[in-house]
Amino acid sequence: MDFRIALIEGDGIGPEIMAAAVAVMEKIAKKYDHTFTFDMVEAGGVSIDKYGVPLTDEALKICKESNSVVLASVGGPKWDTQPGHLRPERGLLAIRKELGLFANIRPAKLRPEFIDACPLKKEIAQKGIDMVIVRELTGGIYYGARGRDVGKNGVEAYDTERYSEREIEQIARVAFNLAMTRNKKVASIDKANVLESSRLWRETVHNVAKNEYPEIELVDVLVDNAAMQLIKNPAQFDVIVTNNIFGDILSDEASQLVGSIGLMPSASLGKTKCGMYEPIHGSAPDIAGKDIANPLATILSVAMMFELSLDLKKEAKIIEEAVDKVLKQGFRTRDILDNGTKPVGCKEMTRLVLENI
Ligand code: NAD
Repeated sequence: MDFRIALIEGDGIGPEIMAAAVAVMEKIAKKYDHTFTFDMVEAGGVSIDKYGVPLTDEALKICKESNSVVLASVGGPKWDTQPGHLRPERGLLAIRKELGLFANIRPAKLRPEFIDACPLKKEIAQKGIDMVIVRELTGGIYYGARGRDVGKNGVEAYDTERYSEREIEQIARVAFNLAMTRNKKVASIDKANVLESSRLWRETVHNVAKNEYPEIELVDVLVDNAAMQLIKNPAQFDVIVTNNIFGDILSDEASQLVGSIGLMPSASLGKTKCGMYEPIHGSAPDIAGKDIANPLATILSVAMMFELSLDLKKEAKIIEEAVDKVLKQGFRTRDILDNGTKPVGCKEMTRLVLENI
């Protein structure tokens, strides 16, 4: 099959980890007779330097016309003093908004060889962690009305959590569709004992489940309890669906349970098949250009794209298995190096993954 993929190398370690992603896609293309046409898109600091803005209209157009976007990372100290609208991250926010990417998907899976790196008690870690957090990305309190005024006790500030049925329905469907490809279990996280927006969330998620996904096992968990259960018994979770702010907090908590930032991929999805796929880490300017960055989160982001946007499920599995094999063989980049493991750089790690595809 033929696919058009927009590639954003961005800044810092971006070009190094993107080279790994491209090498993996090229190997899969050759082996399984697909054609990937790559469009290099400049965004972030590199675009600010060249065009004066973090994302040009032309760059956005290329992203919109692609089957999907792979992003390495943007940002760095060079652009830290820019005004808000000229920060590298603004380019990403513009892509998310313009492509309507309302669902952020973050898998958190503890590989057996990283059990020692998990901060939980061994008997809890050994039960396994394999969950996917589906976070609503373009609504809720981060986008609601906010402001300040003066009350009788001085200055007051407010932010507004506001969700519509449509917004909740569309994120619930993303979670349920994902759950149908896994164990058909969804935990919906809210604060319905206090918040009206959470009560609408809960009602709506249940209506979608009842009417469209009767085979899904749906449970409600209050967010305070969810934060506790993630530490106490993370094995109980499979797919989690939650709003923007709870998802922001809980996905960072979950990321710490499974080892290194250099291993975690993510996807941002909208109504169409076109998504944006990126490692959860940033541009790591401290290690840029040294061939020591971990390319695995970016490679695993490509696997997510294959599965969720391109319907290349077999190929996605092959990439994940290749990464598993390399880790089982004991090869590690510096960020995940442990006693008795074998140190490799970014290029060598990529070569080993390719060898196992
Ligand atoms: P970071 O994720 O870039 O780095 C945090 C630490 O993790 C650093 O020590 C870094 O060396 C290490 N690290 C990160 N990725 C790694 C990898 N693949 N392999 C090995 N080690 C890795 O976060 P930061 O230092 O807070 O931010 C640096 C820049 O990245 C900032 O400009 C920030 O705004 C930007 N940022 C971009 C994104 C994005 O592009 N989506 C996300 C977060 C931060």
